[in-house]
Amino acid sequence: MTADTITAADIRINARWLIPIEPSGAVLEHQAVIIQGTRIAAILPIPDADREVHAREVIDLPDHVVMPGLINMHGHAAMSLFRGLADDLPLMSWLNDHIWPAEGRFVSEQFIADGTQLAMAEMLRTGTTTFSDMYFFPEIVAQIAHDSGMRAQVCFPLLDFPTVWGAGPEEYLSKGEALINTWKDSSYIMPAIGPHAPYTVSDAPLVEARELSEKTGARLQIHLHETAFEVADAIETRGQRPAERLAALGVLGTNTQCVHMTQVSDQDISLLADSGAHVIHCPESNLKLASGLCPAHRLWQEGVNLALGTDGAASNNDLDLFGEARTAAMVAKAVANDASALTAHQALQMATLNGAKALGRDHELGSLVAGKLADIIAIDLSDPFIQPVYDPASHLVYSNHGRAVSHSWINGVPQVQDGRLTRIDVPDLMLRVEDWGGKIRAQQAS
Ligand SMILES: [Zn+2]
Repeated sequence: MTADTITAADIRINARWLIPIEPSGAVLEHQAVIIQGTRIAAILPIPDADREVHAREVIDLPDHVVMPGLINMHGHAAMSLFRGLADDLPLMSWLNDHIWPAEGRFVSEQFIADGTQLAMAEMLRTGTTTFSDMYFFPEIVAQIAHDSGMRAQVCFPLLDFPTVWGAGPEEYLSKGEALINTWKDSSYIMPAIGPHAPYTVSDAPLVEARELSEKTGARLQIHLHETAFEVADAIETRGQRPAERLAALGVLGTNTQCVHMTQVSDQDISLLADSGAHVIHCPESNLKLASGLCPAHRLWQEGVNLALGTDGAASNNDLDLFGEARTAAMVAKAVANDASALTAHQALQMATLNGAKALGRDHELGSLVAGKLADIIAIDLSDPFIQPVYDPASHLVYSNHGRAVSHSWINGVPQVQDGRLTRIDVPDLMLRVEDWGGKIRAQQAS
């Protein structure tokens, strides 16, 4: 659709700056984004829009950057209720002594509903419009996200051992297939398969997961090479690096999203690049748990699609993807020993278009291009902490934090207006969160 064909639009956003992500590195000024229904109808200079477009609603954003909504490609949303519960601990002690016992005690359908909504409130306020989740009761996560109009990849958990959601691999897979069948035609919900990690899922269920992915087209997301211990232990017990084992099982492919990848050999990079698997980089979780450092710059140079995730709020401890982009850019420079590694524009692309690629939806998400879905955010640069403005892309990555997000739309529907959430009842949510906080605090004290 071109501007010539537009006479009546639903929404017109007048932006001081526009970072469309495509073309790469572009920063435009004084542009109007025209939304019709759920899609972007056109992007054109404001004077042209004045002449050609009659919009039902005009939103002037004179101090703002407008860009595609962020895509947070890895997390465990409901773990927001465990934010700050156990800090300053290495991964295995954090999991075995704190997180898994707390999950055993508290995770229920209501916990998932309230924790997911808390995470969504934080993500929406900080610019995320699509998130990926891997946690228990995925059918509840899908319903909650759908009902709030937020886009989500919902990975059902798959492990060798029983949890609150299932007795073992057969039950996880059959419930997971039902989840896929329920949501496979949804624009908002992308059901997916979430084998937890190579050290918690044996070969047979991994192969069944691959077969389910092939049959349904569902993506497969797995924690992979998170720590040096994981890789060393796999070599000792199986004689193979985990990525090598996944490749041998046929699990590495264009539908596969590998989360973390802090330990990467030349052979691992070849496996990733040749298979077309995606890497989800979660630098803050890796730093906080001292898991290791993903060589993001090198992976990017080798042609691996690199997207960005926060991981859960228990190991980050926030879900602000702008903060994550800043950390990713900084860590990439330190790891590469090169200040030009992973530029601000590349960090923004990781947080948007590369996430859409990992989801297989880059034809309709991840950049501001006519015809794509209207998942759009605006960031207010008028605050003193972000002045003066020479290069808005630099500010978004190096000076900003997500709280400067003032507006967001998903499918053309407003989600944040002047910093306020439109579709989540925050006071009611806070009552439920405080109730959980009280219960968990009491348990910790006893
Ligand atoms: Zn994780």
